[in-house]
Amino acid sequence: MHDRRLARQKLKEDPHDFEHRLHQAKMGLITYLGKRFLPGGYWSKNRMEAREQAPGQEKKTVLHLTFDDGPSPESTRELLALLEEEQVAACFFFIGENVRRYPELVQATFKAGHIVANHSLSHPFMPALSLPKMEHEIDETNRELEAITGEKPALFRPPFGIIDARCAEVLKERRMSPVYWGAVADDWHRVGDDRVAKRIMKQLPQEELIVLHEGAHIGRQNVLATKKIIDKCRDLGYSFDAI
Ligand SMILES: [Zn+2]
Repeated sequence: MHDRRLARQKLKEDPHDFEHRLHQAKMGLITYLGKRFLPGGYWSKNRMEAREQAPGQEKKTVLHLTFDDGPSPESTRELLALLEEEQVAACFFFIGENVRRYPELVQATFKAGHIVANHSLSHPFMPALSLPKMEHEIDETNRELEAITGEKPALFRPPFGIIDARCAEVLKERRMSPVYWGAVADDWHRVGDDRVAKRIMKQLPQEELIVLHEGAHIGRQNVLATKKIIDKCRDLGYSFDAI
């Protein structure tokens, strides 16, 4: 009851963010349908509920920062420096084609102790691919990443957040888990770091997986947003952990 009143109050404070509310509704629908119909994998809420049910465990809010679409010369090094300064471990879902272009950024990410994971080779909509193409997207990226880190990635985040049963099977055969979306902010557009941080904060701590993006077209926007999100989360007593 109190929470709902608080949420309404927050909305009133930001009445012009219509675009975001539309986005929230869209994401709510996608998440609802996804949880019902997508193959099993990591969903923020599921993990949260599982933790709450664990007997004798104190409730503590642990969030996970994830970065998709890198590595990028515009942001990866700056993100690494920020995470180092803040002593936060994160998970990076790299695109294979970018891994080929910037192997030194992958190496720096791995060396800094973050999880280096697979986000496909060329960022296609996985359910639209033939089985051989689907396998190629996953295997080539695994191969590129393993050549740099010496470790086979265990996690796969599907581009656009969606896989089908065939893709789930391909992942299972490779002992990989899909990681779906959590708190998202349309941050692959240039919307400004303030807005990205605000949009993410509105979804916490119900969503514990924070999904942020890298890319030349958004430059440093999400490095700045990440700093704001970490600061605000710390004020609220939340902590961070890689997935
Ligand atoms: Zn992506």
